[in-house]
This record gives sequence, structure tokens and C-alpha cells, in this order.
Amino acid sequence: AVLSNQISAGEVIERPASVVKELVENAIDAGSHEIDILVDEAGLKMIEVIDDGSGIEGNQLELAFHRHATSKIGDRKDLFKVNSLGFRGEALPSISSIADVEMVTSTGGEGQAIHISGGKLISQKPAEARRGTDVTVKDLFYNVPARLKYMKSLNTELSKIVDIVNRLALGHPQIQISLTHNNRELLRTAGRGDLRQVIGSIYGMNKAGKMLSIDASDADFKVSGYVSLPELTRASRSYMTILLNGRYIKNYELSKAIIEGYGSKLMVGRYPVAVLNLQMDPLLVDVNVHPTKQEVRISKESQLSGIITEAIRNRLSQQNL
Ligand code: ADP
Ligand code: MG
Repeated sequence: AVLSNQISAGEVIERPASVVKELVENAIDAGSHEIDILVDEAGLKMIEVIDDGSGIEGNQLELAFHRHATSKIGDRKDLFKVNSLGFRGEALPSISSIADVEMVTSTGGEGQAIHISGGKLISQKPAEARRGTDVTVKDLFYNVPARLKYMKSLNTELSKIVDIVNRLALGHPQIQISLTHNNRELLRTAGRGDLRQVIGSIYGMNKAGKMLSIDASDADFKVSGYVSLPELTRASRSYMTILLNGRYIKNYELSKAIIEGYGSKLMVGRYPVAVLNLQMDPLLVDVNVHPTKQEVRISKESQLSGIITEAIRNRLSQQNL
């Protein structure tokens, strides 16, 4: 079992940012209102995620680290259907097979602490804890030297973590999320459900008027969110975030549709800051074969692109831009 977990870990856990993503998604799924993420040395030394969610019952705790034992979603097609980010029940078994993991959790009563290292149960015992879960991952990839060799610089690995956390925060404005690296706080959102506030915390663009609200829909799609004024551009596409039914996705055509909404108002090589929430029937979503790939195809994609481009174009012309 340790070996198969290590193999599947290779698919699910590519880098420290993958661990952060899986742990934070679990915290979100647990109904947390507040999630604190602490990272040392870009996550290669330590990643800790503290939440105030449901916690795990003591008698379920070891099971949560067994492969496929618990997945909240059975079928890939359900991915965009349900209100849960979890998938396949592979994250905890994978992570604990390639790192040292300690979890302290409580559903409200007496808590439990479990320690698993390299896929081996070291200990499980009662522990004092408030309701919620505190999971600490140390020495990631310590027993997978080949994977360690592929790690980029600490700066690159950290920027991937920041990217993932930003996107999870943008998708969940109602959750207060903080990210601290080597004792320095990099992000803290207010958790008041205000997407504009989250955009402000992340991109420093909270001053009124710098982000324009977008709202458009037709029979199949609903598009809402914020886009920046044309003069507030960045030199990278990565400031455009698209969320499909609450999940972060990558889709080249839809990013292009955002850019097209600006037309000639955008200089070549410049991109807007944009966060768009797309709501649609999950049946219109084609989920990619690979579980961790965020690229998805959408049927009626050009119809959706048209709505996005039009909505942005109209909003900008309303501003007399
Ligand atoms: P999945 O998310 O696909 O179900 P995971 O391996 O990520 O699989 O998690 C296994 C199970 O452990 C989850 O289904 C959930 O029941 C439990 N779990 C993990 N993290 C938390 C958490 N922070 N709070 C509550 N339950 C959790
Ligand atoms: Mg999960």
C-alpha cells in the first residue's frame, strides 16, 4: 500500500503547492470559516493548515489516510456537480506516503492526534484540540529524492503556493484565509463574502472604481465578477482568474474572450486583472482526463466567450472608456 500510495502521490503531488492545494481544499470542504496556512522554506520544510471546520471523528481518522476509503466524490463527471472540492480520496494517503504528517483534529469533543511518516502509522492518541483540524506536513519528498531534484528555486515554489492560495481565496470570499511564509504574513482576507475585498487584499486594487463589476447571463450561462480598468494592466496573463461553479479552471479561449472585451484599449503584451465566476449546468463541462489538470472544455464555448467579451466591452463603454 505504501508503494501504490507513493506512485499515486507522483500524480497528485507534484510540488509543495499541490500539498497546500489539497489541504486547503479539505479545509474548505469541512465547512471552515477561517483557514490559516503556514509555510516554511516554500513548503519543502513545513506546511501547516489550521481550520475551524467539522473535524474528523476519532474512529475515522486512520481511515482518512487510507486510499479511496473516503472520497467525497466518486466519479470525475461529478466534479463540477457537487459542492465539494475533494476527489478520489487520494490526497492524504499520497501526502503521508512521501512526508511526515501530523494531524490534530476534533469534532467538538475530545480530539485525536495522528502521526504518519512515509506511509507508516507512528502513533494515534487523544489530544487536546478545539473544533477543527490542524495538519502539519514536514520534509516533503524526503523519501523520493528523484522528485526533490525536480524542485525549482524556493522563490518559484513559493510563487506557485501563493498562486494557488490566491485562487482559492478568490473562489471563497466568505472564508477568512491567511498565508504566512517564514513567519511573514503574505495574505489575509476578511472573510466577509466580498469578492472585491479579496481582490483588494491580493492585488491591492481595492480603491473604488479600479475594478468594474461584471454581470451578464443568457439561458445557459451566468457570468459575474470584476475586471480592472484598461490602464491597470499587468505584463502577465496570470492575473486573470476564471472560476467555474466555484472551481478554478484554465481555459485559453475564455481568457482570450476577456482580453477581446478590452479591444484596442489594451496594449500588446498587457493583460487585465480579472476575476470571473461562471455558473452553468455541469453537463456543459467536459472534465479533462487527468485529475489534477485544471484545464476544462466547455460545450457552447464560443457562445460563452461571446457573453464574456460583450459584457466587458459594454461595461467599459459605460465608463466612457
Ligand atoms: P477527499 O478530499 O478526496 O475525500 P482526502 O484524502 O483529501 O480525500 O481526505 C480524506 C478524508 O479525510 C476526507 O474525505 C475528509 O473526510 C477527511 N478530511 C481531510 N481533511 C479534513 C479536514 N481539514 N477537516 C475535516 N475532514 C477532513
Ligand atoms: Mg481532499
